[in-house]
Amino acid sequence: MYKRVRVAHCPGVFRIAENNGSRVLGKPLLRSGALIGGPKFWEIRITGNRNNADTDNDRHKIPLSLMASGQTEPQQTTQGQTKESQATTPAKDTKMRPAQEQSMKAIRVHKFGGPEVLRLEEVPTPQPGPGQVLVRMHAIGVNPIETYIRTGTYAYKPTLPYTPGNDGAGVVEQVGTDVNEFKPGDRVYTARSVSGTYAEFALCTTEQVHPLPANISFAQGAAIGTPYATAYRGLFQRGDAKPGETVLVHGASGGVGTAAVQLARARGLRVFGTAGSDEGRKLAREQGAHEVFDHRAPDHFEQIMKATDGRGVDVIVEMLANVNLGRDLTILAKRGRVVIIGSRGRVEIDPRDAMQRDADVRGMAIPNTPPADWASIHAALDVGLENGTLHPVVGKEFPLAEAAQAHRAVMEPGAVGKIVLRTEADK
Ligand code: NAP
Repeated sequence: MYKRVRVAHCPGVFRIAENNGSRVLGKPLLRSGALIGGPKFWEIRITGNRNNADTDNDRHKIPLSLMASGQTEPQQTTQGQTKESQATTPAKDTKMRPAQEQSMKAIRVHKFGGPEVLRLEEVPTPQPGPGQVLVRMHAIGVNPIETYIRTGTYAYKPTLPYTPGNDGAGVVEQVGTDVNEFKPGDRVYTARSVSGTYAEFALCTTEQVHPLPANISFAQGAAIGTPYATAYRGLFQRGDAKPGETVLVHGASGGVGTAAVQLARARGLRVFGTAGSDEGRKLAREQGAHEVFDHRAPDHFEQIMKATDGRGVDVIVEMLANVNLGRDLTILAKRGRVVIIGSRGRVEIDPRDAMQRDADVRGMAIPNTPPADWASIHAALDVGLENGTLHPVVGKEFPLAEAAQAHRAVMEPGAVGKIVLRTEADK
């Protein structure tokens, strides 16, 4: 990543001046003499992950290297701009590609209801404002939550009409004012969006966009946002899963489950996974599950308990709590935790099962994630994607126009990875 910034040499650190003020990015890896003489403008190359620098108290590990000579501190003009910025800082106007389309195809919902309310329409292409990025979508992730929202019965109810979707992957088309992190042509994946991702273009803030490594396809990129963030938060931020512990991924064949298996295995946990089909169990094993079970078999809880020699599992990440929570509590180890990721109804539990084990039942909803936790999640995911530890599994694929079929498919049993929509850009 390259960006033009003002670099002030402070004792022991680089302080990077940006539009929103200055912040510390890292200790200088340069000879200190290079920056003597006060703040200067430099082209720098950020070779570490910027999010790491913000969140991990690990800032000293971010290597910075100068790519061009510095220039002297710019003088203020009467308008508050600098002569320097007129000449050399990124253009204040939106950076556009000449072939920018004025309209695009998008799925629109005009009334809440069944899958048939998802309609492909021609709508104006959104334009990025300050701090925003327009992404040309190649592939779009379909999540169960988008079906709940579509019915109008979910806690979150968007204003009609709206374009669904948070997840997707593609190429940066345009960036708005003040965007230095991305440039047109960058491969990215989205995790949340301003305008909705079921479209040929999606408007996002810079925080909602992440670099897509070259080894990850666009379809795989569409499988990252919600599923991997949910799996990471469920396992580590809510479930406190630690290396050496045993985790049960209860529903290991879908988008969140396959991500959870990969993440848990990479962190050094003993991983149990369940699926309702032979194909799903095969997939869970391929993703790293040490043992797999059939969650349709009435005795699978006994089988899991037996596999732990009667000790129980430390953490359960639960995809269908309304079916399983009562019996989950009976197979927990002492001080075990159940993290409720998915539930589609009510359930009866015996509180004594929790009392006897000092067990916790912890709910989570990914929109509740605080900003600092989001940054940690994506710092971890970006590294895992880059080094090949994480490799999203794509299941069924549909053209964008067939979003209704994709919504039907995501609610059917027999998951095998992530369901994605493809746009014309991916042909
Ligand atoms: P998905 O790709 O459709 O996968 C659904 C998973 O649930 C499959 O592995 C499926 O297995 C499994 N399942 C079905 N019956 C089960 C049972 N009796 N016991 C255990 N697992 C069972 O959906 P997803 O994207 O992975 O999401 C999974 C759930 O988490 C959904 O309910 C979704 O709404 C929820 N979710 C919640 C959050 C949050 O913030 N809390 C975020 C994302 C997703 P088979 O098909 O093999 O039977």
